[in-house]
Amino acid sequence: MSMKEKVAIVKCQNYKKANVKNAINRIFDLLDCKFSWQDILIKPNMLSARIPDDGVTTHPVILEVLSEILPGKVYIGDSPPGSQREIEQYWEKCGYAEIASKTKAELVKIEGKSKMFNLKAANRTVSFPVSEFALTHPVFNVPKFKTHNITILTLCMKNLYGLIPGFSKGLLHAQFPEPEFFNQFIVEMYNLLKDRVIFNLVDAVEIMDGNGPASGRKKHYGYLIAGKNAVCVDAFCAGIAGLTLQMVPFLKIYSAKYRMPDFVVVGDEPEIIHDFKSPSSSTIFKIQGKPVLSNMLRFTARRLKIIPVIQHNHCKKCMECFNICPAKAISKDLKIDRKKCINCLCCFEVCPHKAIKVRKSFLAKFILP
Ligand code: SF4
Ligand code: SF4
Repeated sequence: MSMKEKVAIVKCQNYKKANVKNAINRIFDLLDCKFSWQDILIKPNMLSARIPDDGVTTHPVILEVLSEILPGKVYIGDSPPGSQREIEQYWEKCGYAEIASKTKAELVKIEGKSKMFNLKAANRTVSFPVSEFALTHPVFNVPKFKTHNITILTLCMKNLYGLIPGFSKGLLHAQFPEPEFFNQFIVEMYNLLKDRVIFNLVDAVEIMDGNGPASGRKKHYGYLIAGKNAVCVDAFCAGIAGLTLQMVPFLKIYSAKYRMPDFVVVGDEPEIIHDFKSPSSSTIFKIQGKPVLSNMLRFTARRLKIIPVIQHNHCKKCMECFNICPAKAISKDLKIDRKKCINCLCCFEVCPHKAIKVRKSFLAKFILP
């Protein structure tokens, strides 16, 4: 008889070091962790150069505690999407440089050497690089609990996308802009890398709902959630957000193709996240997923989109969006060419000043609630 996977949920009211340490130690006990790993790579979510209080990136205190508890050498590394900024600015702003200065943790640039892989998603074969550092070190995955307009939630499986070195992520978006492809890619990439991932620990003390992953609503939840199997942890997190597997595209794809593993939940009594707001794209996914759509409606549904809009009164002209746009749809005077835009929302994700909003396209506004 196969053993059920375990997902642990433990209360952690805030980011005070003593509370975080206590919660992580409880998680390791509940999941019977043996710490046989050496020289690991901790992979946080370092999406943007934002301060910890913005709720966009994995909180540094979690990384500090892990660096103290875990035996052996600890590296911390992530590759933010295609930024022209120096990685040191991210480390500084996210609070990771300070952690490295007071613990044994070492910050690493994982952009350097990489190895090419091929995989099949949505009937197409795609080549992409994965950081060699991640392939030669066991990965301790530490995502932040957030929403995302293309994947609905970004948790453990999606966090591994950061192991593709920076700029290549944008190129992939340009080659394959459709959400269906992207969600299939997340599933297949996870399958490719899952044996390298030794543990998943989700920062759900402060989460982000609404139009995440960078400009949504920060919300207090007060838990850490963990497990050795990323799919089970993600499925559990979807449940506490009040979402079924069918509502989260990559979990829907995974469960249809590979079957959802059975798991048990250990630790504290989980609470449903109060008043959880899904991203604007969720109504579009719901319509597109209906199996009985007429051809006419299917044609229309494919044209429903969430589009980025630059709010020039909030813009600080940092040019992050201009630099990342894989379709070269943003001009130097920061205007978006709608004909070129592939709606990948990379600009929305990287804007450090919340100056890019998303809204439904004209057709979507007309049809959707
Ligand atoms: S303008 Fe934004 S959403 Fe459109 S292609 Fe460029 S980065 Fe992607
Ligand atoms: S919209 Fe955001 S990312 Fe783009 S230039 Fe303005 S502040 Fe920078």
